[in-house]
Amino acid sequence: MLTFDRVELRQGDFRLKAHLSVAAGSLSALIGPSGSGKSTLLAAIAGFIAPAQGRILWAGKDMTGKAPGQRSVAMLFQDNNLFPHLSAAQNVGLGLRPDLKLTQDDRERVSDALGQVGLAGLENRKPSALSGGQQSRVAIARVLVSQSDIVLLDEPFAALGPALKDEMLDLVADKLSAKGRTVIMVTHDPADARRIASQTIVVSDGIVHPPVETGPLLDNPPEALAAYLGGKKDKKGPLN
Ligand code: ADP
Ligand code: MG
Repeated sequence: MLTFDRVELRQGDFRLKAHLSVAAGSLSALIGPSGSGKSTLLAAIAGFIAPAQGRILWAGKDMTGKAPGQRSVAMLFQDNNLFPHLSAAQNVGLGLRPDLKLTQDDRERVSDALGQVGLAGLENRKPSALSGGQQSRVAIARVLVSQSDIVLLDEPFAALGPALKDEMLDLVADKLSAKGRTVIMVTHDPADARRIASQTIVVSDGIVHPPVETGPLLDNPPEALAAYLGGKKDKKGPLN
C-alpha cells in the first residue's frame, strides 16, 4: 500500500493536499487538468520534492525523508530519458546499475528485458537508430530490470500515434502491472485509463482524490472532471 497521510505539497504559491491510499499491485490512472499537480504528486512519491506536511508511506514504512535513490521507485517520462551516446543495452543497464558495471548475469537480464519488450537483437543500437516506439520500449525495459516496487509514468506515450500508444500501454499492463508492480500513470486521455487502469485518481482544485473504479467514474464523471473531459474524446463515455 502506498499511503499519503495528510500530505500537503507546495510549489511556490501552489498547494496540493493528498490523504489517500493506493493498493500495492494496482494500476491507477492519474487524471486532472493541466497545472492541477499531477507531476508534483509523482515528484513527491519519487522524493524529488519534500512534503510541507504529512507523510508518505510504502508498505507501512515512512519514506518521507528518504532520498530518491533509496526509494523503490522508477519513473518514465515523455522524453524517455535515454542517453543518446549509449546503446539500447546500456540504457537498459542503467536501470540495474547506474555505474554500468554489469556482470554477465546483469547482461543476461538486460537482454531478457529487451526481448520481453520485443527488441531482441537490437542491444547495440543507439537511440538515434531506433524508432520512437522502439525508444519507448527501451525505456520500459529499463523499468523492467530495475525491479522497483513503484512505477510512475508521466504521459510517456503521449507523442506516439494511437496504435503504437496502445501497444505501449499493453506492455505496461502485461510486463509491469501484471508482475505485481504498483503503477501510477498520468494521462490526459480517458481512453488510456479505460484501456489498462482499473482505478483512477482525480487531481483537481488542490486535492488528490482517493482512487475510484475507472469505468463508472468516466461513465458518470463528477462536475470538475466532466468540465475537464468535455473536450476529450472518450468514445465509450456519454460526453460526446
Ligand atoms: P500538472 O502535472 O498536473 O500539469 P504540475 O504538478 O506540473 O501540474 O504543476 C502544478 C502547479 O505547480 C502549477 O500551478 C505549476 O505552475 C506549479 N509549479 C510547478 N513547478 C513549480 C516550481 N518549480 N515552482 C513554482 N511553482 C511550480
Ligand atoms: Mg505534468
